[in-house]
Amino acid sequence: MSRADEKKRIVVIGAGQAAAQLAISLRQGGHVGEILVIGDEPHLPYQRPPLSKKFLSERPQPETLFLRPESFWRDLRVDMVLGVPVGTVNLRNQIVSLTDGCEFAYDELVFATGTRASALPLPGATLENVFSLRAIADVHRLRPALDAAERIVIVGGGYIGLEVAAVLRSEGQAATVVEAEDRVLKRVTAPAVSEFFDTLHRERGVDIRLGARLAAITGDTLATGVALADGKSLAADVVLLATGARANDELAQAAGLACNDGVVVDEFTRSSISGIYAVGDCSRLPSRRYRRWLRLESVQNAIEQAKAAAAVLLGEPAAYDPVPWFWSDQYDIKLQIAGLSAGHTHCDVVGEPTAARFSAEYRSDGRLIAVDAVNDARAHMLARRRIAQETEMTDAVALEGAA
Ligand code: FAD
Repeated sequence: MSRADEKKRIVVIGAGQAAAQLAISLRQGGHVGEILVIGDEPHLPYQRPPLSKKFLSERPQPETLFLRPESFWRDLRVDMVLGVPVGTVNLRNQIVSLTDGCEFAYDELVFATGTRASALPLPGATLENVFSLRAIADVHRLRPALDAAERIVIVGGGYIGLEVAAVLRSEGQAATVVEAEDRVLKRVTAPAVSEFFDTLHRERGVDIRLGARLAAITGDTLATGVALADGKSLAADVVLLATGARANDELAQAAGLACNDGVVVDEFTRSSISGIYAVGDCSRLPSRRYRRWLRLESVQNAIEQAKAAAAVLLGEPAAYDPVPWFWSDQYDIKLQIAGLSAGHTHCDVVGEPTAARFSAEYRSDGRLIAVDAVNDARAHMLARRRIAQETEMTDAVALEGAA
């Protein structure tokens, strides 16, 4: 960053994991101008992974999730405006307006607006005791309802659905998982890994219904159950929708930025409009490594892409093309995923699933592209290095447009 740029006011929309890292990296990199982070939730930036794990089971205070205490942000001279969403962005005048009428000028603007639970376009999806799980406020609504419930139906056998099922069974509560596909975690893992988690949950008492497509949530004001497409029905006092997320990109779209379930950015986190960037879950980024466009939902990406954005804003750009990684905790099992397995042509299982310590290694054209490691942190760490080497792009790869 040149001396003339040092006083720039950088405004970040969204106060989550990516926003927090961006602010920290900007200061660490020497930015002396104002940094303003605007978040619609009333909380300081916090970590979301525990929401479907420890935070749900142990019920601590929200502060335990905060990435840093208030004093940290004060000392870092990062201003936080919390509890009110940004409603509009005026590109011409470089002003963001909050829905309460407050306005803030920016020199450079970063979208870090994350995702929200996908809406389920089905009858009954907005009934009172139908929940999703993205934020502290969701846990505060969901937890008492779970405590009072006898029959809990979780729609979606992905990470979040299974993590919640694990919490419930560990507490002795009944849980039914309704999954439309023919195996759990189908979108993200190989059959061997799905089978391992299917068995794990069934052995602990989860009622898993595979190939069960939801037709409706039944009930008048309160949900009383779910109706399946095959005509069967299940009674429920609580229905948790865990069917995926979509990017919060409407604000960016309304401002004229190219979006496609995510703000489209280049490998330097730059959006289609100069001076505007996007990071974390809300961005759609090009991966030459995986030869396609990605929208990643992981702490790793939120942190690393935010660092990349800070470097660009500081005038030291470096292309960002990660080996993504992710984890999921279910009971005493830790699943760690390195890379992206979609499009693999070959999968080997290494180790012994019955010993609850094994890996699935995914290859495409002979190259290692992803590894799912169960209870094997060493294999995971090694995999990250191996995948980085084997998927490194030495030639420029043209990617079809994302927008
Ligand atoms: P977020 O942390 O979602 O923050 C975005 C913020 O922007 C939100 O507070 C949002 O309300 C706010 N916002 C949106 N629009 C506006 C607006 N107009 N004005 C102001 N603010 C706005 N990842 C892992 O790697 N491992 C895990 O085990 C894991 N478990 C998870 C479990 C759950 C239940 C959830 C919900 C997520 C989990 N994730 C996990 C994903 C991880 O938490 C996200 O990838 C990460 O939080 C993304 O950070 P972010 O800053 O991009 O978005």
